[in-house]
Amino acid sequence: MNAYLARVIENVKAKHADEPEFIQTVEEVLTSLEPVIEKHPEYEKVDLLGRMVEPERMFTFRVCWMADDGTWHTNTGWRCQFNGAIGPYKGGLRFQKNVYPGIIKFLGFEQTFKNSLTGLPIGGGKGGSDFDPAGKSDAEIMRFCQSYMQALYRYIGPDVDVPAGDMGVGAREIGYLYGEYRRLKGSFENGVLTGKGFSYGGSLIRPEATGFGAVYYLENVLKHEGESIQGKTIGCAGFGNVTWGICKKAAELGAKVVTLSGPDGYIYDPDGVTTAEKIDYLVEMRNSGRNRVQDYADKFGVKFFPKEKPWGVKVDVVMPSAMQNDVHMEQAKQIAANGVKYYIEVANMPTTNDALKFLMEQPGVIVAPSKAVNAGGVATSALEMAQNSERLVWTEEEVDKQLRQIMDTIYTMSVEAAEKYGLGYNLVAGANIAGFQRVADAMMAQGVF
Ligand code: GLU
Repeated sequence: MNAYLARVIENVKAKHADEPEFIQTVEEVLTSLEPVIEKHPEYEKVDLLGRMVEPERMFTFRVCWMADDGTWHTNTGWRCQFNGAIGPYKGGLRFQKNVYPGIIKFLGFEQTFKNSLTGLPIGGGKGGSDFDPAGKSDAEIMRFCQSYMQALYRYIGPDVDVPAGDMGVGAREIGYLYGEYRRLKGSFENGVLTGKGFSYGGSLIRPEATGFGAVYYLENVLKHEGESIQGKTIGCAGFGNVTWGICKKAAELGAKVVTLSGPDGYIYDPDGVTTAEKIDYLVEMRNSGRNRVQDYADKFGVKFFPKEKPWGVKVDVVMPSAMQNDVHMEQAKQIAANGVKYYIEVANMPTTNDALKFLMEQPGVIVAPSKAVNAGGVATSALEMAQNSERLVWTEEEVDKQLRQIMDTIYTMSVEAAEKYGLGYNLVAGANIAGFQRVADAMMAQGVF
């Protein structure tokens, strides 16, 4: 391996030994940049890679909130402004009890490359808290979000850093966060957050955008193979916003999602999650705060597999859309043994590095990486920012048209970047290289700091 590249990876391993997710993403991305680094010896002199793996800054803050029974609780909040070379920091907030700095950094690093791939002016950032939203009342969520924003507001702004949702942060939380920001600032700067409700500056299609974008990307992959999405069966995980969007768009285009999962297990619906009633029920399940996918099986009379993952089900397309490291080597082998041709990552880093490598090496399996596939969400956030600064509202058709175009461009750029470096049809390396190049050019132009 290129000596400079190897040294940067070793440094990250030593420095972040207690943050395995961050090491994982750095290793995955940097390894695929090898041909680029070989071609650009000038990067080493200014330590471009060393700077890229170091967040520009990261804030840690205390968040205290009162439960309904009058007791007070303390959580930690974080915001990582990873890389601002190509635009204001942009990325979601994750509220989940397993959140710690290693998760925020891995997400912030991924976000930098993903946002660059969209071709839009957004840098990479991420934040969150170890607060566990499960089972909390609406009033508790509101008080938590208000307290969170009291700490965060001084670090963000429409031209500085623009948070959004991620796991545990949806339209409701963004509403409370924005309300508190407006109250603190005394001005209507709604470009400070995205994923807002439509009534106060949210974009049409934003709630569906990640799922829609993933399906548009999939269509590009299928087209390359001379196939159509019509009639395809899709295995998904999760049942949140992203999976919901996939179900909706897939159904519209004549395909069907047949598995969903939750922390309690997975469901198999051979008829597909295709009707409006079923798709709407996913939103109800999410809003109930119960975090159980079994509810779907109970309601629609399909089979529920407790404590199991859906990767053993034979489908045409696998789309892991729940969370990081959901697919390990064992499941990857199962997927390959089932003859699945399309492995389309959707959640951020859903595959362990060894499982990803294994799948990429299987003849006949096409692997697409999450940072390209799920970029439609943040891309539509950038469209929301554009509407906010124009003080305009775009039509659904306009946003959807732009989303589709962005996804097509991401796909094409990835294919071309891999070809340029002699890597063939490699969507994973192509996305890393294309995402890297724009950030690298901007950093090289702006001087060393
Ligand atoms: N959390 C989402 C992501 O992983 C969306 C971020 C955003 O819209 O800023 O890309």
